[in-house]
Amino acid sequence: MEKKIHDVMIIGGGGAGLTAALYASRAKLSTVLFEKLVSGGQIASTDLVENYPGFTEGILGSEIAQRMEAQAIRYGTQIIYEEVKNLSRKGNVFEVASAEASYVARAVILAMGASFRMIGVPNEKELTGKGVSYCATCDGAFFKGKKIIAVGGGDSALQEGVFLTRFAERVIIVHRRDKLRASPILQERAKANPKISFIWDTVVDRIEGSRKVEAVLLKNVKTGEMQKILVDGVFVFIGHDPNSGFLKDFVTLDEKGYIVTDDSLATSVPGVFAAGEVRKGAVRQLVSACGEGCAAALAAQDFLNDHN
Ligand code: NAP
Repeated sequence: MEKKIHDVMIIGGGGAGLTAALYASRAKLSTVLFEKLVSGGQIASTDLVENYPGFTEGILGSEIAQRMEAQAIRYGTQIIYEEVKNLSRKGNVFEVASAEASYVARAVILAMGASFRMIGVPNEKELTGKGVSYCATCDGAFFKGKKIIAVGGGDSALQEGVFLTRFAERVIIVHRRDKLRASPILQERAKANPKISFIWDTVVDRIEGSRKVEAVLLKNVKTGEMQKILVDGVFVFIGHDPNSGFLKDFVTLDEKGYIVTDDSLATSVPGVFAAGEVRKGAVRQLVSACGEGCAAALAAQDFLNDHN
């Protein structure tokens, strides 16, 4: 049987992908979106989104994710919950392959976002889910009355660190420098929170515990001094890496794996566009990811009009 040729395939269902899907389907393009887990990307596991314009009191990350998905579906987007394993060109169309099936379309928007980075210390992998976590919203409630560390000095470490004080008795933010990267408003909030303290110029050397996290061994990067502190949890917020692994040599990536685009969000392959955090130079905010999703969908529409 002949495969249906879609107009646009969007890979990734975060803010960028869902907005691209909304614009493409409202333009009456036949649109499929691939999502490997649940829609929303990083916002789906964010507690409160306070900087998306229009939501004066903030909105739960999970709620805005569900709303964006419902809005795209309402205009005709088909969401396929499969993990994309490969993207290739077959003549005039592109083929996306998952473990289950393959699909074809005339244009593609890459919006896979980025995944949290691991510290890479002994026992981190073994104790993940047993006290080591990368998601405060998912796991915070397990740490009621406990003592935990949050690793990192960016917006995520501070925002999630403050969120974790709803449950934990003490949150120690361990940062490798003595200056935070986080925005001033989050710094103020964290520093004013009596349950939060900071350990500066320090990295995690190893995590200890047999069946669950019991302690961390910390190393001062300036003095080399080691200290062991007893903790129940280690939350890691040290940034992200792009989810571009399956692209291999298909489009041009930078040295860190981010997709290189031109001003119209076109990649090195005509007909393939990129939007959101997987793209080199992206601002990494929900609102800009959505803006890029819109721009990529409009660029894909122009491409399809020109190549009809
Ligand atoms: P980020 O801004 O890249 O910060 C990562 C932090 O982890 C930095 O402080 C970095 O230290 C530290 N780090 C990196 N690798 C490390 C390692 N191997 N060991 C120890 N520490 C390490 O990442 P993010 O905080 O996840 O934020 C990602 C993006 O999302 C940012 O653009 C941020 O603005 C945005 N975001 C925004 C909000 C908000 O607006 N409310 C909330 C969350 C995230 P250095 O500072 O020394 O490099």
